[in-house]
Amino acid sequence: MKYYSTNNQAPIADLHKAVVKGLAEDRGLYMPERIKQLPADFLDNMRDLSFQEIAYTVADAFFGEDVDAGSLKQIVYDTLAFETPIVKLEENIYSLELFHGPTLAFKDVGARFMARLLQYFIKQEGTEKVNVLVATSGDTGSAVANGFLGVDGIHVYVLYPKGKVSKIQESQFTTLGKNITAIEVDGVFDDCQALVKNAFMDAELNQHMKLTSANSINVARFLPQAFYYFNAVAQLQREGKADRCVICVPSGNFGNICAALFGHAMGMPVKRFIAANNANDVFFNYLQSGKYNPKASIQTLANAMDVGDPSNFARIIDLYSKHQQLSPEETHQRITSLISGATYNDKQISETMRQCFAETGYTLDPHGACGYRALKEQLQLGEVGVFCETAHPAKFKETVDSIIGGDIEIPERLAAFMKGQKQSVEMSKEFADFKEFLLKQ
Ligand SMILES: *Cc1c(COP(=O)(O)O)cnc(C)c1O
Repeated sequence: MKYYSTNNQAPIADLHKAVVKGLAEDRGLYMPERIKQLPADFLDNMRDLSFQEIAYTVADAFFGEDVDAGSLKQIVYDTLAFETPIVKLEENIYSLELFHGPTLAFKDVGARFMARLLQYFIKQEGTEKVNVLVATSGDTGSAVANGFLGVDGIHVYVLYPKGKVSKIQESQFTTLGKNITAIEVDGVFDDCQALVKNAFMDAELNQHMKLTSANSINVARFLPQAFYYFNAVAQLQREGKADRCVICVPSGNFGNICAALFGHAMGMPVKRFIAANNANDVFFNYLQSGKYNPKASIQTLANAMDVGDPSNFARIIDLYSKHQQLSPEETHQRITSLISGATYNDKQISETMRQCFAETGYTLDPHGACGYRALKEQLQLGEVGVFCETAHPAKFKETVDSIIGGDIEIPERLAAFMKGQKQSVEMSKEFADFKEFLLKQ
């Protein structure tokens, strides 16, 4: 498969290059040249297949030309050693629990898949040592660090804003050691992201070391997220509920929903989508006005969605404009006919968490709360809604406890991280300092 850049000014790349580089030379995002349709036979009968079997078929459509079947199957089966069940909360409203992986967040799937794919390329093609840079507001860092932990030939640098991630999240990437280095930046998330972007564009640094990104700009990180949407439809099929299905995705950088839209373009039988946002409403405003006006991010209770300039926006536009050859107006029309938006402030998020807990006994995390509320407000008669519960509520224990007045249990897996010793490198938000540090590595 060939990959082009959303900015159209970079050479066409193969999968190996797209994964190792992350971002194209022109700062665009890589897009697969073709999106294969999956056969009706498969789509109609997913109910009879396991998660891993479903995922392998989807993975084969994206990566099958570039990775031999045996290795790809191994990568998929190793990545998906856990389930993403749907849980019925109310008549026609289901929570798709994406948090049963190693760090209890959906990003575990993409992170692990990318780590294993990079490892495959390093072995197969003798790729030199790869350094992964990842900026995180909490969840990405832990998923990537754990996905890559102990993988030979790869070193991971996790940049996070000092004092702005929860203790539990911090412990998940600062206590690992081995090939994982945590960098504590004196700034906000956007500063971390800027440091990473600047590093990719710095010629001297790229001469010195091979750098790649594990944020959802990387095709190997975001595409595997399509797996669990197919699996959600399969589960609905088993319940006889798969007609007129609506999928609602709490969104920040829009990688997760973008993967769902790729799935839809491959034929996944979903009627429409909802992108649920916190107070960071840039995409919501685009849906209303057709204009994209990025802004600085606002800090909210759902901090993994505090993004003011979602990196995958370009991919979503490209998916419809280029793959379906539509003008900007037609693209906007097409997107608004398929995706609706929602935006909630912190007060509404807390309200929703309290209300859902009181009415259904289900504990939402602040991100999932946006998804649940958007479905409640927008689901129409005859539709069946599935929202993504993107993280285990215990990851946001202090917030969740204080809102619902409870004391939720911390799963063993999380508690284990908190026993570790924190190790981090302190860093200013100046690129020159970060560069000097990397040049010494
Ligand atoms: C990353 C994350 C999101 C947002 O996902 P995107 O792919 O960036 O849109 C939502 N919820 C949680 C818990 C996350 O970690």
